[in-house]
Amino acid sequence: MTDRSQEPFPLTGSDDYRERARAAIPASYSPWLHLSGTIGVGVAAVALGAWRLHDVRAVEWLAVPAMWFVSNGAEWRAHKDLLHKRRFPLHELYDRHTPQHHRVFREHDMAIQSPRELKLVLIPAIGVAAILVAALPMAAAAGALLGANVGWLVLMSAAVYVVSYELTHMLYHLPEDGRVGGLRVVRALRAHHARHHDPRLMHRWNFNVTAPLFDWLHGTIARPDEADRPRRQRSAA
Ligand SMILES: [Zn+2]
Ligand SMILES: [Zn+2]
Repeated sequence: MTDRSQEPFPLTGSDDYRERARAAIPASYSPWLHLSGTIGVGVAAVALGAWRLHDVRAVEWLAVPAMWFVSNGAEWRAHKDLLHKRRFPLHELYDRHTPQHHRVFREHDMAIQSPRELKLVLIPAIGVAAILVAALPMAAAAGALLGANVGWLVLMSAAVYVVSYELTHMLYHLPEDGRVGGLRVVRALRAHHARHHDPRLMHRWNFNVTAPLFDWLHGTIARPDEADRPRRQRSAA
């Protein structure tokens, strides 16, 4: 399989790709159905877990921050190695992300122009379900080793994390002047993600979306002037 991770597309200038991507969205597409589907899958997993939890001990709640840490690392790795490298059989992830999402939304043009463009931002509900299925072996192992409560908390934490990924990513791609979008912390996180949307930086920097912990741990937080620095100087830093 050809690695198209470095495949170029116009870095600047007019590009009718967005028009074509928008025209390809089926007339039957409902952004509200899409949003409630992706969030609904997560909420269903949390509800199922909440129903199965019994007498959770204080120490068992530690599974929640532990899973947040694991999920943040998985987000960094998956974004870098699955969304920015075309790998069979998960090439669909790359195709929706690098040549489409990154080409439509640029660093200084991040906002959707209509709710229908959420199709180009949100993960399909089936994708959210697939992520939770991928988390099942870890939840089952935690449940077998540390007790059923911990297993369910692992699954619930993964679900909350995926939903928070969807909501924060959507927030960065909404117009900036909303009540939530204008908050200082949201502006800082949006700037972090917007820098990742610079095509010159997208394969190397700012892979975290929810919070840049693993970008910090891996040294992949781009400086504000990163794109203008000579490449040699960048890799030496
Ligand atoms: Zn984005
Ligand atoms: Zn990306």
